[in-house]
Amino acid sequence: MSTDNLHTGLIGLTTEELGAVARAWGQQPYRGAQMAEWLYRRGVHSIEAMANLPEDLKASLPATYRVGRSQCVAERRSKDGTVKLLLQSPDGARVEAVGLPYADRSSCCVSTQVGCPIGCVFCATGLSGFTRNLTAGEIVDQVLSVQEALNRPVSEPGAIRRIDHVVFMGMGEPLLNYDATLKAVRLLNSEMGIAMRQLTISTVGYVPAIYRLARESLQLTLAVSLHAASDELRRRLIPGMTRWGVSDLVDACRAYVSQTGRRITFEYCLLDGINDSMADAEALAAALRGVNCHVNLIVHNPVAGLGFHAPPRRQLTAFRACLENAGIVVTQRLERGADIDAACGQLRRREAAAEASLPEE
Ligand code: SF4
Repeated sequence: MSTDNLHTGLIGLTTEELGAVARAWGQQPYRGAQMAEWLYRRGVHSIEAMANLPEDLKASLPATYRVGRSQCVAERRSKDGTVKLLLQSPDGARVEAVGLPYADRSSCCVSTQVGCPIGCVFCATGLSGFTRNLTAGEIVDQVLSVQEALNRPVSEPGAIRRIDHVVFMGMGEPLLNYDATLKAVRLLNSEMGIAMRQLTISTVGYVPAIYRLARESLQLTLAVSLHAASDELRRRLIPGMTRWGVSDLVDACRAYVSQTGRRITFEYCLLDGINDSMADAEALAAALRGVNCHVNLIVHNPVAGLGFHAPPRRQLTAFRACLENAGIVVTQRLERGADIDAACGQLRRREAAAEASLPEE
């Protein structure tokens, strides 16, 4: 284990908190704003690189603090530009982060936990169990690391890509790591300048935290992974979230919409022969009747050994039409990075298998 994890990461602190750090070392609080500029806008990896800090502060800080950047231990690049990183913290914990460059925006998908306790039966991350929660700094570090990767190599001066959309949709259930997730949201908004509406928290439906999030009255986007319209099927697919039924979850979503005025996104991962029948589509339409929402259909990204498959295209088309006929707005997630272990948790498992010289998955 590295001794680096005995130090506090500066990434994860607000400008005000960085100012307090400076004050504790006998410096003016405005040094906090200087540190924030280096950390969040310029993406430095060392305290030494913060050129306009006084030498005595730069010499003192490393006794207690480190910048808090992770180490990239694996990187995959897709033909479509998608970048997937495996990032390692000083204690050896590894998480995945994904960068998705589009013509008009740059999006980043971050993890909030090392592994996941929910154990969705179609998910590679769920197979690996749960290790620990990430800190807010570790979540923000993923955005900085992905931004760096998307700009490597920089093709031409002025072509710098800045992440402007972040989805909390990687490894882990964000609402089970509520405080760190919300602090990361606020840091990305206030320190990195990403608009609150461009931040999306995805949950499999931790109902008490949805009510809590509603009370924050933030303008972020909430995406709820439903995947089934019946309690029985949801229990089978999402075994770690069985305490609340579909109606409890939809009620919480109605409360969220009414408190924030924001439309909810329901994610529905179509699994061939499991949740893709016309009866499933009708039950979904009935469950969501009257909710200000749209449904995002996800075509399952197969994980070797789990036995789930994407439905045929005609089934997807019929499922979509059934929802649209019921007046529900439907989108379909574009498939990106299929050639680079795009499904959440696959790269981490593949690297672990390679290091242990085990057969991959
Ligand atoms: Fe956890 Fe999300 Fe995977 Fe479910 S799909 S096991 S909530 S990471």
